[in-house]
Amino acid sequence: MASKQDYYEVLGVAKSATADEIKKAYRKLAMKYHPDKNAGDKEAEAKFKEISEAYEVLSDAQKRRQYDQFGHDGLKSAFGPGGFDFARDFTHFSDLEDILGSLFGGGGIFDEFFGGGARRRRSATAPRRGADLRFDLEIEFEEAVFGSEREVTLPVNDPCADCSGTGVTPGSRKETCKHCGGRGVIVSSSGFFQVRQTCPVCSGTGEVIASPCRKCHGTGKVKTRRRLTLRIPPGVETGSRLRLGGKGEAGERGGPAGDLYVQLHVRPHDLFQRRGDDLFCEIPVPVEMAALGGEVQVPTIDGYAKLKLAPGTENGKIFRLRGKGMSSAHSYGKGDQLVQVLVEVPVRLNAAQKKLLAEFQKAQSDDNYPTASRFKKRVEAFFDRKKEMKK
Ligand SMILES: [Zn+2]
Ligand SMILES: [Zn+2]
Repeated sequence: MASKQDYYEVLGVAKSATADEIKKAYRKLAMKYHPDKNAGDKEAEAKFKEISEAYEVLSDAQKRRQYDQFGHDGLKSAFGPGGFDFARDFTHFSDLEDILGSLFGGGGIFDEFFGGGARRRRSATAPRRGADLRFDLEIEFEEAVFGSEREVTLPVNDPCADCSGTGVTPGSRKETCKHCGGRGVIVSSSGFFQVRQTCPVCSGTGEVIASPCRKCHGTGKVKTRRRLTLRIPPGVETGSRLRLGGKGEAGERGGPAGDLYVQLHVRPHDLFQRRGDDLFCEIPVPVEMAALGGEVQVPTIDGYAKLKLAPGTENGKIFRLRGKGMSSAHSYGKGDQLVQVLVEVPVRLNAAQKKLLAEFQKAQSDDNYPTASRFKKRVEAFFDRKKEMKK
């Protein structure tokens, strides 16, 4: 590597360019120097690798900082002594597919060069972290309020006990893959490009199993059901996610296990609705009680509570029972319960009841119904104004 060009110049962007500007500049150049578009053009190939290297560095905040501070020397630890190796170090395949996939469609040299080769080759022999698992769990409303403990059984892939996850029959060994000579990759020429493909026989590991473990058929994994105790904290809601570190699938080749995520779905409740940390419920109140006042029993999440209604309690009025709501998931406090009064008008009256109500009707005055009498006045004023205008 003699004199390397400045990465900012390579992409034609300012030193102060934003991530977006850098991506845009790379996109433009990648379209221009794209291998499928410039078949047989050595210069375009070199240029394409150059801009990809510049993008790899400038699109990564940490690498960019190192480069800004120490120039090309700052990247020795990132890329190794040989410098940037496209097949090994380029990590933005998805960006490229995003940029170019729609333009050129699938297939061609490009796909083999990027998708088929480098990406898989690297992961095939390295220790690999186990997959994260996602599990959906429906819980009762009360569990969300008070928290709970749940025993769950999850289907997972555990390392095979017979072969300790190696996939090889105990006592026998893995053999070097004859197809690729143990390199894990097949290198062939396609036009001016050297195409590196993951060896299809050994999947890039460079080894084949001559006598696969009988229990796991050489995969090194067995399906099992794992019992776990889940602790659901109070205050969770639908969409809350519990993370259990290291409880996902086992890693491969000594890699760490993945994580387990449990996505919670809270069943709706017959009586209560959740509003933040508050619980909401409606209580029907007979019209005569709303008028005379009295005491009603109100259900709360942990038992009955008494609610005093003042004489003349109106329909729709909301009462607040302090501390009868949810435990907050975010603080130590507790929410309240909100109780909304629904005044119910009696139906199916018998003769005696009708008589009583008719008597009341005779005895009532405008003063008993302030809303109705205000309304009556507004209506009269409206028609008075109309008359004035006609004159
Ligand atoms: Zn092979
Ligand atoms: Zn096995």
